[in-house]
Amino acid sequence: MNNCFVLKFGGTSVGDVAAFERVFHAVSTQIEKRPVIVVSAMTMVTDALLNAFEIAKKGGFSEALMSLEPHFERHLKVSKVFISAESPNAFNGELDFARNELSDLLMRVSRRSLPLAMLKDAILSYGEQMSSHLLAEVLRAKGLNARQMDSRRLIVTDDEYGAAQPIWDETEKLVRLELLPLIEAGEVPVLGGFIAASRGGETTTLGRGGSDYSAALVAAALRANELQIWTDVTGVMTCDPRICAEARTIPFLSYEEAAELAYFGAKVLHPKTIKPAVDFKIPVRVCNTFEPAETGTMVLDESGETKNKIKSISHKPNITILRITSARMLGSYGFMSALFQVFERFRTVIDVISTSEVSVALTLDNTDSLEQIVTELERLGDVEVEPGFAVICVVGEGLRASTGLASKIFSTIEDINIALVSHGASSVNLTFVVKEDVVGDVIRKLHRTFFGGSD
Ligand code: ADP
Ligand code: ASP
Ligand code: MG
Repeated sequence: MNNCFVLKFGGTSVGDVAAFERVFHAVSTQIEKRPVIVVSAMTMVTDALLNAFEIAKKGGFSEALMSLEPHFERHLKVSKVFISAESPNAFNGELDFARNELSDLLMRVSRRSLPLAMLKDAILSYGEQMSSHLLAEVLRAKGLNARQMDSRRLIVTDDEYGAAQPIWDETEKLVRLELLPLIEAGEVPVLGGFIAASRGGETTTLGRGGSDYSAALVAAALRANELQIWTDVTGVMTCDPRICAEARTIPFLSYEEAAELAYFGAKVLHPKTIKPAVDFKIPVRVCNTFEPAETGTMVLDESGETKNKIKSISHKPNITILRITSARMLGSYGFMSALFQVFERFRTVIDVISTSEVSVALTLDNTDSLEQIVTELERLGDVEVEPGFAVICVVGEGLRASTGLASKIFSTIEDINIALVSHGASSVNLTFVVKEDVVGDVIRKLHRTFFGGSD
């Protein structure tokens, strides 16, 4: 252990002046733990950058740049509140730099002078570049020895723009080389999450919500004592509190349970976050900047809770079902392999899959290559495409082994049409697919059955 803590602050935790004040509180009260900070873009900034990219793509260069102006202003406002006009304010220079660079990048988008995927990641990276510079300056102005570090010099990835995969050995080496001396010297490194660079030095991003992933990589490389994910809810809850007001904080989760929840839509943790932490057995704590005194959720190797107990219900909207029916499947092998190859070729992940003797049904949340996939699959059989579904995932350690739980789940929602079920592949989850418009209803009903409450 290197005796340091990694603290990740999400977009809502750096949304405005009051939020920065809360971050300062969370950091300064833990300064003796030797914190390393990973910060997301200010809330709404990544969406705004994405929108600017889309506008520029249609040729609206000036409109794209103008659309970012309110967000530059938001950064400026925070910096003015915390940094007195007399003291040197390095952030102003950074903001000017970001504005100029973004102007240049958006111009290139409208002219298509470089590959769009590459330009898009370069543009999106400015959310975290600006927030990390701003947070470092704010913490300095408030007396902490903070220093912004460019994550692109620390996290090395492949060149899969938009969803780059970290190259662990190189990342581990660089993070340790660059950050350990700072930590030893009593400095507080502040890194932008979500952003990285390929071996060739081009800016890449780790996928939406990827700051959690960056934080986990840094925590793993440093063998941190704890990874804290600071957000706007008190930990991982029994379901999304935006869907059901009765949602409660889960005090302990196992890594496996947390991974299933994150994968199937509990946005509070990025799906891949858990992996680096699991590999190095680093405890993960999910806590609330609005309620800093609350412990939140601890994610540990083993949750230690009673087995056979449902912990949480997560959901993932915007799911498309594909059904492939083929007489060729009957008694033949090689069919599934041919099917999976199509998805592999288009780099599309399958979430839930169910097979019968002559048909396969599966779900996708990424439909970017849907048309091409369908064309290829039509060589294997008849293909039906049904959009407008959601995956619901009930998670709890020992779920597979427990008798009667599945029937209790399905009898609670017996009036709902279930399109697909997957049970038994993982020992901690039971997953099924329903029409998107009944999701709220299904979750509230299940929540009432398993956790009580009036919702
Ligand atoms: P951040 O900006 O801090 O990364 P996110 O918006 O990514 O925050 O994640 C926090 C949100 O996740 C919450 O506001 C909540 O609506 C949502 N959420 C979904 N499922 C859950 C769950 N099971 N427990 C807690 N929050 C959840
Ligand atoms: N800013 C990025 C996003 O909005 C990454 C993150 O917030 O984790 O997706
Ligand atoms: Mg998030």
